[in-house]
Amino acid sequence: MKYSERVIQSVIDKNPGQPEFHQAVKEVLTSLSPVVDADPVYEKNAVLERLVEPDRQIMFKVPWLDDKGNIQVNRGFRVQFNNAIGPYKGGLRLHPSVNLSIMKFLGFEQIFKNSLTTLPIGGAKGGSDFDPKGKSDNEIFKFCVSFMTELHKYIGADVDVPAGDIGVGAREIGYLYGAYKRMTGKYEGVLTGKGLSYGGSLARKEATGYGLVYFVTEMLKTAGSSFAGKTVAVSGAGNVAIYAAEKATALGAKVVTMSDSTGWIYDKDGVDLKAIHEIKEVKRGRLAEYKNYRPSSEYHTSGKVWQVKVDIALPCATQNELDLSDAKTLVSNGVMAVGEGANMPSYPDAIDYFISKGVLFAPAKAANAGGVATSALEMSQNSQRLSWTFEEVDEKLHAIMISIFNQASSAAEKAGAKGNLVVGANIAGFLKVADAMIAQGPQY
Ligand code: NDP
Repeated sequence: MKYSERVIQSVIDKNPGQPEFHQAVKEVLTSLSPVVDADPVYEKNAVLERLVEPDRQIMFKVPWLDDKGNIQVNRGFRVQFNNAIGPYKGGLRLHPSVNLSIMKFLGFEQIFKNSLTTLPIGGAKGGSDFDPKGKSDNEIFKFCVSFMTELHKYIGADVDVPAGDIGVGAREIGYLYGAYKRMTGKYEGVLTGKGLSYGGSLARKEATGYGLVYFVTEMLKTAGSSFAGKTVAVSGAGNVAIYAAEKATALGAKVVTMSDSTGWIYDKDGVDLKAIHEIKEVKRGRLAEYKNYRPSSEYHTSGKVWQVKVDIALPCATQNELDLSDAKTLVSNGVMAVGEGANMPSYPDAIDYFISKGVLFAPAKAANAGGVATSALEMSQNSQRLSWTFEEVDEKLHAIMISIFNQASSAAEKAGAKGNLVVGANIAGFLKVADAMIAQGPQY
């Protein structure tokens, strides 16, 4: 058995009941095989064994008082996976599905994604099984304070810098930041995605979605194509989805679908993003309301956005939302490119199918790295006590996405897998981290 296969097997044996973590490790280690199985230095230094074991996994109780005066108890997590190239960095997710397996898959992927950004940040992830849906501002506030009461012991501007993810936007980051400041007495860049009045970066909100479109643009160029005139299916209606749709539309594409966890819309005339902004970002409502803005649109509670005939698909909601049968439907409808805005939205067999059919495929860890890259730019601004203009940040983001594409593309070519950005992104992200780990000695 090859080195990479042995490590995959040991991860499965040692971490029972963690399917998402197994899936992420298998995907990454399989594509690293041409590198790690060809050079004994990696096995000699136990690089893979050290990479698949988080530095620490913190789990804690989050008790909070709801509006009726009842005590609720949630579980909090912070998985600090690897800090070989910089302080731990990765989002906080608030969603009922959150468990250790999902935290570990996200933290593991984050190591390579952060490495690809070219910026000095390590990998981590955190969150809670708390469901923010339907909660009052007061309940969100109480949860955030309780969550930070434990989390603040483990984070810091040079230690671990969390950010937003599903269910964590500007409101939650604000409450978390206020709690951290009060508990530690420190005013420092310990969280990113902050409001502009207290250290946030312009363009952070837009960064993941815009970055995705910048990356897919580079990929489309290799086929002499662009977003102009293309029909696009977007899933999700949150932070990533909204700004991916906005940038794709600005580049001349027509976005015809969006979704949330209760249903999805099809608007043949192109989704009205002002309406989405109002429903999702202002009212925190459901997509079902979109019909009030565009009576000619369709709202569905069954099926998926992937059944619509489009040129480009951008899954931007959550993990494992695009399976093999969705991939077959998209391909039979003539899809030419898929760009992952969410983390691990496609099942492995769906990815293999796209690649086997010659569909251009942009994997999450490269394509959605714009968010964390801009978070790292927020950290730089905080350290300098400066704020850059929107254009400055957007320009840097754009350059970073082009550089990520070039790194992934050339690593794929070197590995004999020209055009396979899944392989390229994993290898390019891995090499820098592995070098740093080896250089820092066997105990890290
Ligand atoms: P948001 O919470 O802003 O939006 C998530 C969207 O996806 C919502 O429309 C939500 O619907 C929908 N959704 C979430 N879970 C499910 C589910 N289980 N089934 C169906 N729909 C679901 O999150 P983000 O936009 O920030 O994150 C989306 C994805 O992008 C995640 O995978 C995240 O890890 C990834 N990502 C985010 C980054 C960021 O900067 N925010 C950076 C890199 C990756 P509803 O409104 O009903 O909850």
